Amino acid sequence: APGVRSADSFRQEKAFVNGEWISAKSGATYQVINPSNQAVLGVVPDMNEEDTKAAIEVAYKTFQTWRNVTPKERSTILKRWFELTVQHKEELAKLITAEMGKPMADSLGEVGFGGSFIEWYAEETKRIYGDVINGSNPQRRLLVLKQPIGVAAMITPWNFPNAMITRKACAAIAAGCTVVIKPAEDTPYSALALCQLAAEAGLPPGVLNVVTSSRGNAPAVGQAMCESPLVTKMSFTGSTATGKIILRQCAGTVKKTSMELGGNAPYIVFDNADLEKAVKGTIGSKFRCSGQTCVCANRILVQENIYEDYVKKLAEVIKQELKVGDGFEPGVNLGPLINKKAVDKVNSIVDDAVAKGARVVLGGTSNEKGGNFVNPTLLADVKLDMRCGQEEIFGPVAPIFKFKTEDEAVAIANATTSGLAGYFYSRDIGQIWRVAERLDYGMVGVNEGVISCVEAPFGGFKESGLGKEGSVYGIEEYLEMKYVCMGVA
Ligand code: ADP
Repeated sequence: APGVRSADSFRQEKAFVNGEWISAKSGATYQVINPSNQAVLGVVPDMNEEDTKAAIEVAYKTFQTWRNVTPKERSTILKRWFELTVQHKEELAKLITAEMGKPMADSLGEVGFGGSFIEWYAEETKRIYGDVINGSNPQRRLLVLKQPIGVAAMITPWNFPNAMITRKACAAIAAGCTVVIKPAEDTPYSALALCQLAAEAGLPPGVLNVVTSSRGNAPAVGQAMCESPLVTKMSFTGSTATGKIILRQCAGTVKKTSMELGGNAPYIVFDNADLEKAVKGTIGSKFRCSGQTCVCANRILVQENIYEDYVKKLAEVIKQELKVGDGFEPGVNLGPLINKKAVDKVNSIVDDAVAKGARVVLGGTSNEKGGNFVNPTLLADVKLDMRCGQEEIFGPVAPIFKFKTEDEAVAIANATTSGLAGYFYSRDIGQIWRVAERLDYGMVGVNEGVISCVEAPFGGFKESGLGKEGSVYGIEEYLEMKYVCMGVA
């Protein structure tokens, strides 16, 4: 196709600060590994506190001018950036598959999803409105201004190395903020490739900065962001444990925060559900990204009358449809897990269930492919006190729990400190309303297993997070509301 470059021409081995490709001051680098075959893809700078502070200063200085750029101009640049991601979707997708492992079709899907946030916020930047309020004093006018919050720091995860960058950064940039991002250590290249295209689109130097660091330096980089008085906003997506550390560190400067943390999604199938649809939905909700998303079905709850049917059908569809392997191999739709630590964790959750009496219907911990590959695994007769009933699995393991009544299902679903996404399948309209209202979750899928989209607010209740991303609401996270009282007498 015209304009297609090699994916390698987007694999930048430097960090991106002030519009320049730079090394760590110390000169340190670390290696980026392909999770499918452990090949070294290349290196990137291993930056530390000092490098982070320097990037924050650049972002702070740039904010003084970027905040005054007109929405129309910001929109034009974001649109061009979006178009470049469409033009280079193949190359961006290859980087995702290489550094993160998901199959090419999913990577292409992610580039489209990631691009949708650039496009959306290119549009939303023009619609940042204030208000004028009539007070009780006739000699005053009360105004509400919406202004960019300032320098926004961001720490992102590896499971959506492209879309988690654009969902945050484009909302911030559209609001008039400048940005410093620390991408996940496993997946820096997708973040850097987006910087390359942003620069080509005409985004001024210093608006978008990416500081890369190894896992070893992540706490120091994060702390420098959280404690900097020049940073007025922190947006984090990752584990609940790390999110809590970051929240604590942000307390010292009372930073505004957005947190997208872990989930423990219930996926409830009532006995009046369309079984085919419920099974199909499980495949998308549970096995997408090899189960490595925070909205993946985690606890599958099936009503007793249809329990055995559901287990049987799901096993058939898994056998028919899921193919494990390298994401570049045609036909593969279940890539590797991100690293060995993830594989060990998932396997130990399966071992725990088996030791406590679960029935392995499909899969299990042995895998002839080895490496970071895990077979799709179906566990029946599981109990809530097993680890798979308590923890976020983050792997292609589907535990199927049995329940009797609607009340019981809702109680089980809500008995967790997480509250990100929840799903249920039912054809009873009364039940649909009742259960949708009773689930303590920020996002609910009814007869749908995959629900994220740019137009809808993404975010969790309880310990799953603070704030919303995407949608018309997402830009608010990067705006301060200022009240101006104007005497007119
Ligand atoms: P995971 O276990 O899936 O890697 P994490 O929450 O640990 O989830 O990682 C999400 C992001 O948080 C990554 O960019 C990672 O480097 C970063 N991170 C991990 N620990 C810290 C920390 N102590 N401070 C700041 N960032 C961190």
